[in-house]
Amino acid sequence: MICYNCNTRNNAEDMVCFSCGKTLLTTPFTTNQRTWHIFNAIAPIVSLAFLYFFLQFFIGMSSRFSGDAAFGQIFNLTWIIIAIAGVMSAVSLYKNIMDLMGGVTQSHTARLMRKYRSGGGGGRRGQRRYYAEFEQIGKVTLQSTMYSQLEEGATYKVTFSPNTKRGWEFEQQ
Ligand SMILES: [Zn+2]
Repeated sequence: MICYNCNTRNNAEDMVCFSCGKTLLTTPFTTNQRTWHIFNAIAPIVSLAFLYFFLQFFIGMSSRFSGDAAFGQIFNLTWIIIAIAGVMSAVSLYKNIMDLMGGVTQSHTARLMRKYRSGGGGGRRGQRRYYAEFEQIGKVTLQSTMYSQLEEGATYKVTFSPNTKRGWEFEQQ
């Protein structure tokens, strides 16, 4: 994990930064945190599989229009969507597996620069994502209930998963 004192990347099992000697604050995952990472490693792959079969079905249904120039463009677009979704799934899988292998959360005290949310807006599935951007740590994702309690400009002891940057606890200092 990264030492946020000197920006050196240490091994997951290190207790002290080998570069600056600062103690790396780590806590073993709780069962909930572990389950969250397993779910988040698998979920994008399941979505990708559904997307793939849906598009295959759609292409099959549309094949009678295959002489159409527009069909060719839609066909290419679907593969671009699958490729992008595939890369995103692979990155998510990798980061979640790295966190599961490390098996610990990291804590660091930093100032909250800003918070924001994306997606949703009363959309069909209400898939809003909540972000908090801290000095040194960068962007972490978090639950909406925690999001509403955070104040921009305040300093927090942030407990998060080092690779996925999932924020678990925010203790105001
Ligand atoms: Zn260091």
